[in-house]
Amino acid sequence: MTDFARTRAAFHLPAGVTYLDGNSLGPMPLAAAARVQRMMAAEWGDMLIGGWNGAGWYDQPRRTGDRIARLIGAGAGEVVMGDTLSIKVFQALSAALALRPGRRVILTDSGNFPSDIYVAQGLGDALDAQVRVVEPLALAGALTDDVAVLMVTEVDYRSGYRHDMAELTRRAHAAGALTIWDLAHSAGAVDTDVTAAGADFAVGCTYKYLNGGPGAPAFIRVAPHLADQARPILQGWMGHRLPFAFEQDYHAAPGIERMRVGTPPILALAALDAALDIWDEVDMAALRARSIELTGAFIGAVESACPGLELVTPRDPARRGSQVSFRHPQAYAVMQALIAQGVIGDFRAPDVLRFGFAPLYNTLDDVHRAAQVLGQILAGKSWDRPAFHARAQVT
Ligand SMILES: *Cc1c(COP(=O)(O)O)cnc(C)c1O
Repeated sequence: MTDFARTRAAFHLPAGVTYLDGNSLGPMPLAAAARVQRMMAAEWGDMLIGGWNGAGWYDQPRRTGDRIARLIGAGAGEVVMGDTLSIKVFQALSAALALRPGRRVILTDSGNFPSDIYVAQGLGDALDAQVRVVEPLALAGALTDDVAVLMVTEVDYRSGYRHDMAELTRRAHAAGALTIWDLAHSAGAVDTDVTAAGADFAVGCTYKYLNGGPGAPAFIRVAPHLADQARPILQGWMGHRLPFAFEQDYHAAPGIERMRVGTPPILALAALDAALDIWDEVDMAALRARSIELTGAFIGAVESACPGLELVTPRDPARRGSQVSFRHPQAYAVMQALIAQGVIGDFRAPDVLRFGFAPLYNTLDDVHRAAQVLGQILAGKSWDRPAFHARAQVT
């Protein structure tokens, strides 16, 4: 059994704050500061360039990748860290298109995160491929024989809808297409199993539910049967089979190493490594059960405290990620009023109140406090103040 009181104690959670925005930025693990400090002093400070071999910096993207692999149902040696998620989306998409040369369509859905769609559009312009965007529930029916790759974010960042990864992958393969699964709102949130689902490519970030800190590196996983064929396209020296031979021509490294591009962010990987220590104690089935308990309790508590608020997230736990969203015409102002009272969730345009539940540190107390404060704000219309309507430049 996973002891969620113990995992909660591993985080710095500011007093008076009910934090329900870990799906944008996870809180700081208490061990992160000391880990980064130690790395700075003992490794960068004292070892200088010798740290690449002496402290294992060079292999760090693979070692950290192996720790993430367990959390997404991948095997050791299948995941590597680096860059940002948008860049990993670019690599996966371009590699998938190259593996299906006769097909020119990238299929995705309108619930996908804009960055993934922007990357696809840029790549489509450059490679003469077409991006086809359909409604989330229309994906399976849109798998025509010109589709090279189906690109889906497993859990919709706005609605919290969880796609059926195994079924959609099966349908895509039957239609001759490859699949890319974006796990930005899955890794550390739900019991994703890329192996069981037969996913071809998977990508994700580590600063949301994995708590690696702002700008923490992304990950990419390629299914073993494709790892030696997939061309990274963004070919950098760290993905070369012999980076230190400084050969003039590129030859991809075997396996997942070829998805490395340039010098890895060692300071950021140190913070992430401290965050991943907490995950070593976590059973993913227990995590999923706890997530369903928290999100289910929140739906019930809000519906009794706030009659009339429209639930956006699926009621069926099988179709729900680890967040709950409600629609309100003044969602922005309502969220500002919540934040003013220490309940931090998120607003997603145009009218969504989004609350992320991270089993590692959120509790039923958080569920009830957030629902109660939301109920008071709506009943008293206390969101209707000029200060709560003023929009900041960056939110
Ligand atoms: C958070 C998120 C991103 C962000 O990409 P970055 O390159 O890390 O900024 C991309 N895609 C999805 C689906 C996300 O949820």
